[in-house]
Amino acid sequence: MIPFLDLKRVNAAHEPALRAAIDRVLASGWYILGAENEAFEQEFARYCEAKHCIGVANGLDALTLILRAYDIGAGDEVIVPSNTFIATWLAVSQAGATPVPVDPDPATHNIGPALIEARITPRTRAIMPVHLYGQPADMDPILAIAKKHGLKVIEDAAQAHGARYAGRRAGSLGDAAGFSFYPGKNLGALGDGGAITTSDDQLAERLKKLRNYGASIKYHHEFAGVNSRLDEIQAAMLRAKLPALDAENAARRAVAAAYLEQLQDLELGLPAQLPQAESAWHLMVVRSPRREALQRALSAAQIGHLVHYPIACHRQQAYADQSWPDLPVAEQLQHEVLSLPIAPYMSADEVSQVVSVLRQALRAG
Ligand SMILES: *Cc1c(COP(=O)(O)O)cnc(C)c1O
Repeated sequence: MIPFLDLKRVNAAHEPALRAAIDRVLASGWYILGAENEAFEQEFARYCEAKHCIGVANGLDALTLILRAYDIGAGDEVIVPSNTFIATWLAVSQAGATPVPVDPDPATHNIGPALIEARITPRTRAIMPVHLYGQPADMDPILAIAKKHGLKVIEDAAQAHGARYAGRRAGSLGDAAGFSFYPGKNLGALGDGGAITTSDDQLAERLKKLRNYGASIKYHHEFAGVNSRLDEIQAAMLRAKLPALDAENAARRAVAAAYLEQLQDLELGLPAQLPQAESAWHLMVVRSPRREALQRALSAAQIGHLVHYPIACHRQQAYADQSWPDLPVAEQLQHEVLSLPIAPYMSADEVSQVVSVLRQALRAG
């Protein structure tokens, strides 16, 4: 049996540090916006090569609050990938703005810079590329388009903690970035959590108030903010795990390399890697028109698998009341993509087992 992702096993590697961190918070008597959050913000900002980090309650809030802090809302448009987790779109909707989807590059499954410019209108305020599966979007051309049209670039880095593009870390590539620390992410808390990284001083200042009822001094509210904070326990959990993130991502890269090598002679689509990008390998996604047969074979062999994502955002009931442009690549991907187990603890033998099940299923026709 190979589970899709065994979080117990992921966190067991950190158990002494996690227990010590829990004890520290319990003994401190301070549970919201304290020393742990502040220390984590500094440590994660440094890790992402950004000037500031602002801890928030989850990844969706991180993205929504960035838009709100830039005063992007009703009447504004934000360019988003058609192929992403729905939170990217929901952040735009929650800010009151309109998501404008752009189909992915069929090779990388990430937003294709070539299609962005045609969707820019006088109402466009920002581009929100997603570093999908952990692989950075092709940021340089996206940044050039944004500069030309005066748009903000907001990274959805929820799957890409530690990834690099042209040597620079995800989280430092645009104007601001949203991260999620949902337990299954590369850097996962033991509950919900999120963060924003930015090198924009004014934005950081505004976000620190926005997440805390619009106040920096208790009971002095400058604007109508929200309650979206990273609590001390989760900040402490993340501080315990952050020092190992690079080693865990390197282990994921080794697993991915083994998959790529062994899968190359199989009749499977593999998302192309940009030469200037170093993926965090959050997900190992393959593509096949015979997905159902592969799913059946993996299930029979007790190997975990998932689909990211089975219904494209514009096909979701939540967005059924709006009309959308043709998004043929997203339409096709939703029927073909299949995510294989990947985790820092995975052995070479486990990778070979997964590949051999896929090989047999494809041979069986
Ligand atoms: C996980 C994820 C989010 C949202 O994070 P939450 O912490 O669950 O709100 C946003 N975007 C992408 C691409 C994600 O994978």
